[in-house]
Amino acid sequence: MRGFSKLLEGIVKYNLFDKKHTLFQLKLYGENPDPLSLMFSCMDSRVVSTKFTNSDLGDNYIVKNAGNFVPYPDDLEQIANTTTAAGALELTCVRQKIRHVVVAGHSDCKAMRLLYDLRKQMDAKTGSPLELWIKKNGWRTIEKFQYLKEENSFTGPVPFMQESENTKFKITIDPGQQFNIVDKLSQVNCIQQLENIAAYPFLKERLSQNDLLLHAFWYDIHSGNVFLLSRERQRFVEVNERSYFGLMQEVKNRASAKILSES
Ligand SMILES: [Zn+2]
Repeated sequence: MRGFSKLLEGIVKYNLFDKKHTLFQLKLYGENPDPLSLMFSCMDSRVVSTKFTNSDLGDNYIVKNAGNFVPYPDDLEQIANTTTAAGALELTCVRQKIRHVVVAGHSDCKAMRLLYDLRKQMDAKTGSPLELWIKKNGWRTIEKFQYLKEENSFTGPVPFMQESENTKFKITIDPGQQFNIVDKLSQVNCIQQLENIAAYPFLKERLSQNDLLLHAFWYDIHSGNVFLLSRERQRFVEVNERSYFGLMQEVKNRASAKILSES
């Protein structure tokens, strides 16, 4: 019973030590919380995005699933196929005016391992529920993964559509050769989700005006380091006190005057 007793013990400890402070924070935000971002993250128990972003109560909307996928919107006409991701995007980016959508991938991802193992049978319409989820949402990632070849030491570059205009940007994957092939696939997958998000028709206008910005984080669970996709440097860049100002400047360069006036 270790697993469940830990949950109940956690609630008892929360009642004793944390509830008062949490209620104080909830009262502070009142009925109109003003979250900063919508984050899509893998459901892996080791990936706690609020921890590595040092986020507080009320800061982020978070959608989690196996593989941090944002399903491409080609099935949205059938209501049965409407996804959590689509609902979350509408809730936060249309009904509310969230400025930043983040996709957070990570190393040693079990969903990416399965996608890698299934990469040669993406067309087969059979499999377990998890395999079908991975195939349905992962085939675009596998198409991009083909750009990683032996002759470029499996670094690409890989082209992705720029969401604010009809051009492409190229990303070199793991130029320092720090990560294994499944982790490289995970980085490609993380960036592919930005393309998927940008394909939602109801986001087009805000994206074209740079009024809504899409970002990719990648978390290395072995080192604890967090990387941000840099389009200017065409690779993932580790976020730390040395890179912070340069990376913030890049984000400001992409932002609309409206976003800049708020910050
Ligand atoms: Zn994962």
